[in-house]
Order: sequence, then structure tokens, then C-alpha cells
Amino acid sequence: MKDLSSTIRKVLPTPFFPFAKNIYRHYKHIKHFGWKHACPLCGGRFRSFIKHGYDDICPHCAAPNRYRLLWLYLKQRTNFWSDSLSILDISPFHYFKKTCIELALHDYVSVDIAALNVSVNADLVSLPFRDNSFDCILCYHVLEHIRDHKKALKEMYRVLNSEGFALIQSPINLSNMVTIEDLSPLDQETRIQLFGQADHFRIYGQDYPEILEQGGFQVTVDDFVRQLDTDCVERYRLDPNELVYRCIKSGHL
Ligand SMILES: [Zn+2]
Repeated sequence: MKDLSSTIRKVLPTPFFPFAKNIYRHYKHIKHFGWKHACPLCGGRFRSFIKHGYDDICPHCAAPNRYRLLWLYLKQRTNFWSDSLSILDISPFHYFKKTCIELALHDYVSVDIAALNVSVNADLVSLPFRDNSFDCILCYHVLEHIRDHKKALKEMYRVLNSEGFALIQSPINLSNMVTIEDLSPLDQETRIQLFGQADHFRIYGQDYPEILEQGGFQVTVDDFVRQLDTDCVERYRLDPNELVYRCIKSGHL
């Protein structure tokens, strides 16, 4: 579908983009119309999700599996809905960002090194925030893109307050005992083959919690998804193997 989208962009005059986008949105809704599945993030109901690699994408808000699990986790395991929090969302998912802003419950800051429509453009290895600034940090599928991921972890540790928590998720291959990394210049094909994407420096392994701990964090590996009933996992089409890595300050740094 990405190919179709880029072909349309090439052949269609720019003023027609919004029109084509609307047609595509309606097409997706009709194609996936139904009641079997639901997305907790946008509240949509669907016959099926959109398959994209290992992900099942929400036809309405485009949330991948991990953001549907995050939404449920925040609701059931944190004070996200009861307290006003200062939140740092790193390379935010657009619909999650939109929802947080509309909710107006939190002091919400989004950061990305280059993306438009975030609060601050900054590098994760050098954040322009004071120590202990945030109650909650969300860092989803970012670390694998960062050359010095240990420095990035130390920055997140620095700006998290002592009562707060960080949810730091990355692609992990649990069949690997240790993380496989290559920082040398490699061609794109090799990187895709080794790490799953052309701009990834590594694929994390079973040692992922220890890597987070090297950033100073105390890490709880939460098998939250396995504690949900199977109907719920199927309805929201969650990844039954995804573990949540909840990090708090250990006080060791
Ligand atoms: Zn959705």
C-alpha cells in the first residue's frame, strides 16, 4: 500500500493530495469495517487491522500493536488517568500526542531530533531540560536508531524525577542472548538483514534489561499482556509476547 501511495503522489497534482487522502481514509474504513476488533487509543471498531510486517495497524489512527498495549498499560498500571503528570514523549506517535494534548490533563512535551510538529527539536543524547523535570518518559522504538544509546539512557535518567517512571521499548529478538550491534558504516541491505531496518544500529537481545540498568535505571519487566484475558488480547490484537520495560530511578547515578 505504501507503493500505491507513493505512486499516487508522483502522478497526482499536489492540490489533489488532501482529496486523495480522504478517499483513501474512507476506503480503509470500508475495507476494515466491522466489530470484531477494537482500538483502545482511538475507540474505533473494525473487522480487521492492516497487516504491516509484524505489526497490525489500526485502520483509523494507525496505532501499531505496541501503542494499543501502551494505552491499556497506562490506564491499568499507572497514574496516567488520575494525576496531572509532566510527560516527555520522545519521537511521539502522532495520535498519542494528539490525544494527550486534547486531554489537557498533563504537562505534555514531545521531542524529536528533526520532526516538525513537536514541542522541541533536540537530540536524545543532549536534552535541553533540567534534571528531574518529568514524571513520565515514553521512549518507543527510538534507542535502536541512536549510535550512543547509553548516553541517551543517561539523559533520560537525568531528566526523570525520583518518583517518576519511564517506559522504554525497543525491538528485541528474544532468541538472541545478547544485543547485536554494528556501528561501522554498512550498506542499507546489510543493516536491514542484520537489524530489520536500514537506520538501525542494533537489535536488542535478552540482555535488554541490563542495558537499561547500565543507564542507571531500576527495571521491572512486566508481562502485563499475559495477564489480560485472551479475548482482550485478540480484540485489541496485541502482541502476546510484548513485555513492558518500566524504569525508575535507582539512585545509583
Ligand atoms: Zn486506533
